[in-house]
Amino acid sequence: MTPKLLYSCLLFIYSSVEAIITVKMFRHILIVLSHLALLGHSADWCYDHEECAPSHWYLHYPSCGLSSQSPINIITANTVADSSLGPIVVEGSDATSEGELTNNGHSVEVTLTSKYTLSGAGLTDAYTLAGFHIHFGNSNPTFGGSEHQINGNAFPLEVHFVFYNSIYIDLTEAKQQSDGLAVVGVLFQIGSFNSALDHFLGQLSQVAYSGQKTSVQANLRKFLPAKIGYYFKYNGSLTTPTCSENVTWLVAGNVQPISLSQYTQIISNLYFSLPGAANPVPMLDNFRPTQPLNGRTVSVYRK
Ligand SMILES: [Zn+2]
Repeated sequence: MTPKLLYSCLLFIYSSVEAIITVKMFRHILIVLSHLALLGHSADWCYDHEECAPSHWYLHYPSCGLSSQSPINIITANTVADSSLGPIVVEGSDATSEGELTNNGHSVEVTLTSKYTLSGAGLTDAYTLAGFHIHFGNSNPTFGGSEHQINGNAFPLEVHFVFYNSIYIDLTEAKQQSDGLAVVGVLFQIGSFNSALDHFLGQLSQVAYSGQKTSVQANLRKFLPAKIGYYFKYNGSLTTPTCSENVTWLVAGNVQPISLSQYTQIISNLYFSLPGAANPVPMLDNFRPTQPLNGRTVSVYRK
């Protein structure tokens, strides 16, 4: 081998190694960048970012692409009256309860130390309250924010009271079961001041960022009376991944009021992002679009 050929060979090997290192570095930079892009989010699903938005949930969570999904648009003219269901019955303390308020990166949720039980409404079993959370819109409340719609009308706020079947040990076990969950949805329209919400609205700034928690007091009775005599019932899913289709939905027919200043407290205090994020993403529009009914029956009970 001549010195010139040896030099050419060495140059070729060097440039090949350099190319491999460059590709590896490039890949590494891409991975770092994609992680940075997701830093505003605390999970692999979201509401506001194209790659993880509701239209993409089914890619990671196949159940989100099934045919009995929630929420839905309830067309009242197509609902089927069923007087045999009876009212929704919620048993538990009338007193204000201690609890915990948490920003989970998708919503804020409240858990209470007092025990509440759901029955009636044609349910075979009793269900235990796991907690409640909220879905809402943005600075223009007429744009909606609720998950369920009634006759095509969206509302600025929807509260979900999540109950799990009491025959199971806890929410985690119940989520795996076909009869595991019952959720009561309550819709809110801008109107008068709502004292039921005020216990925890004042503390939202303490849970501004994902993962933050604070103690809270709430009186469930102000939200959920002992009996609800007007509601819609259908079989659907969780409205967030995993979108499992094991939820008996009970959507209250009477829309509740929330004042504009209370609504503004919700939309101006919260972020999807973790604490310390350079450009925190405001928590807005955390609702899933309505899903096709696909032949399901929506029952209505009205005393
Ligand atoms: Zn919800």
